[in-house]
Amino acid sequence: MRPSGSARVAGVAGWPISHSLSPLMMSRWIEAAGLNALYAPVALPPDAAAEILTQISATSLVGLNITLPHKETALAVAHEATPRARAIGAANLLTFRDGRILADNTDGEGFLAAIDRHAFDDSEEALVLGAGGAARAILHALAEAGLTRFTLCNRDRGRAERLASDLAPRARLIDWDARNDGLAEASLVINATSLGMAGREDLAMNWDRAQRRLSVFDSVYTPLDTGFLTSARAAGHMGKDGLDMLIGQGRPSFRAFFGQEVPDLDIRSVLVAALEGAS
Ligand code: NDP
Repeated sequence: MRPSGSARVAGVAGWPISHSLSPLMMSRWIEAAGLNALYAPVALPPDAAAEILTQISATSLVGLNITLPHKETALAVAHEATPRARAIGAANLLTFRDGRILADNTDGEGFLAAIDRHAFDDSEEALVLGAGGAARAILHALAEAGLTRFTLCNRDRGRAERLASDLAPRARLIDWDARNDGLAEASLVINATSLGMAGREDLAMNWDRAQRRLSVFDSVYTPLDTGFLTSARAAGHMGKDGLDMLIGQGRPSFRAFFGQEVPDLDIRSVLVAALEGAS
C-alpha cells in the first residue's frame, strides 16, 4: 500500500545514519503487512539532538528508534521510561503520545531472541567482553532471564567496574589482557565491543582454555563472519552473529509504532542480501 496523508510515520535517528539497516527491515515488514505506514532514516546532529527530539515528539510521528550516538540523550529527554531503559541508562526506542516521550530499550530483548534463550540456571556463566551500551543491555537481559554468574572484561577496567556496580554487583572482573582466563568457567561468551567491525581490528581470543562447547555471540553484524566468530567456530564452538539481535530489537519497536506483530517474512535473508550487496 502506498502511504497516504494519514499514514503512521516512524523512523530511526542517528549520526551518521546512512549505514542503518533498520529502514530496509521496517519497510519490508510494513510492505508485507500491507500497512498505511512509513519508516524513514533521520540524520540527527549531536549538538542539537535533545532539542530536535523534543520538538519532533510534538509532530504526528508515532516514534523513533534511536541509534549511536543518541541513546543516552534519548533517555534523558523522555518524560517516562521503562524500568529496563532506566536500568540500562539508554533508550533505543522512543514513542510519542500526546506530546509526551516514552523511552524503552529493546536491545537486550533482541539479544535474548538472537540466542534463543529466555531462562538460565545456576550452572551457567557468561563472559561479557565490553562495557558500553550494548554490554549494558545484554547484561541486564541476562540478569533478568535468571543468569547470576558473570565475568566482565573491558579495556577500560573502570567502565567495567561501573557496569558491575550498576547491573551485576557479584560479577568477577578481569583485566582486558587476561580475557582468555574468563573462558574456563564460561558457558556463554559475548563480544559486546566494537572490535571486529568492518575496518577495525579483530577481537583476538585463544579458545584453548574453554572447557566445553560454548555458545559464542558477537554483537557485530558488519561483517557477519568476524575473526572472533570464525576462530570460535574453528575451535568447535557455536557462533552467532549480531544480525538476529538487530532483528530482535526491531520486532517490539514495530509493535510499539504500528500496533501489531511483524508479519511472517524471512527478514534475515533480506538483510543478508543487502549486506552482501554493500560489501
Ligand atoms: P560503545 O561505544 O558504547 O562501546 C564500545 C565498546 O568497545 C567498549 O567496551 C570499548 O572499550 C570497546 N572497544 C572499542 N575499541 C576497542 C579496542 N581497540 N580494544 C578493546 N576494546 C575496545 O558501543 P556499543 O556498546 O553501543 O556497541 C558495541 C558493539 O555492539 C558495536 O559493534 C555495535 O555495532 C554493536 N551493537 C549491535 C547491536 C545489534 O543489534 N546487533 C545493537 C547495539 C550495538 P572501552 O570502554 O575500553 O573504550
